[in-house]
Amino acid sequence: MNTHILPQPFEYVEPQTIDEALQYLSEHKEKVKIIAGGTDLLVQMKIGKVSPPCLLSLSKISALRYVIEESGLRMGPLTTFRELQMTPSISKRYTALFEATKAVSTAQIQTMGTLGGNLCNGSPAADSAPPLLVFRGKVKLMDAREERILSLEEFFIGPGKTALKAGEMLTEIELEEVNERTGSAFKKLGRVSADLSKVSIAVAIVRKDDLCKECRIAVGAVAPVPMRARKSESILIGKKIERSLIEKVSHQVSQEISPIDDIRSTAWYRREVVKAMARETIQLAWERAAS
Ligand SMILES: Cc1cc2nc3c(=O)[nH]c(=O)nc-3n(C[C@H](O)[C@H](O)[C@H](O)COP(=O)(O)OP(=O)(O)OC[C@H]3O[C@@H](n4cnc5c(N)ncnc54)[C@H](O)[C@@H]3O)c2cc1C
Repeated sequence: MNTHILPQPFEYVEPQTIDEALQYLSEHKEKVKIIAGGTDLLVQMKIGKVSPPCLLSLSKISALRYVIEESGLRMGPLTTFRELQMTPSISKRYTALFEATKAVSTAQIQTMGTLGGNLCNGSPAADSAPPLLVFRGKVKLMDAREERILSLEEFFIGPGKTALKAGEMLTEIELEEVNERTGSAFKKLGRVSADLSKVSIAVAIVRKDDLCKECRIAVGAVAPVPMRARKSESILIGKKIERSLIEKVSHQVSQEISPIDDIRSTAWYRREVVKAMARETIQLAWERAAS
């Protein structure tokens, strides 16, 4: 039950730098929860799902809030969906990511919710995950002693589970460079527009004349983690894109996923609807690659 109050006392700290934050994390390890926008964490605290003795807020660490275009894209985890939307390089070149940020709930959630929080919450339905997967996203994780870089596919482990260890923090999200022959698109189906997805999908295609040179397809809310549909991708690579081929790939996407029945949808519905969503998203990404 959402009681609107936080039932437990906790220590609250607001470090100013990444080093201070990492030091605090190394001293308190499992006892501490990081809070960014709080749109996932505060709900979980209110319903008693988690009750951390210490909260470490990232809100004062300006070094975690940025978007830099430099042989690809580097984004600080504290960057909000709204800030991503306002970044011209994202709306122009990383279209699937731009569309995903617009699909997140309402203006309030887009203004408070951060990219890092969306990933670290580990939801299979996280809207930013499919587009980041098709742009071959990587995450930089740091603790007080070292840093490591993982692909997003390695980062997601299971529902609500990521590769983050106690004492670690996500400090950067990196995307590969896209060229002008790349087209991408994102689609989401929710119960209502402000809800988490029943199914989401992102596609990125690199076109060479009439051929599909590269293709990446990623889906959300249809498996324990957001995932690439690699068998489906392989059907398109090197081929001329035609209606019958898109039909074949869309069917393959529905075979590659492992959806479940839950409060938002049934496994059967998810498998059916992903075919139509794949068809539309592939077509759109292909058309955009041409322009
Ligand atoms: C009404 C409502 C509607 C929503 N609709 C959507 C939707 O349509 N699509 C969608 O994808 N999500 C949705 N969400 C979920 C949520 O808004 C997003 O997941 C958001 O991006 C979370 O970001 P945050 O900054 O608020 O995370 P927080 O709540 O601050 O943190 C989330 C988790 O990530 C951890 N964390 C945060 N930053 C870091 C970091 N840098 N390093 C390590 N761990 C970190 C926290 O410890 C916590 O476990 C919705 C939530 C609400 C309340």
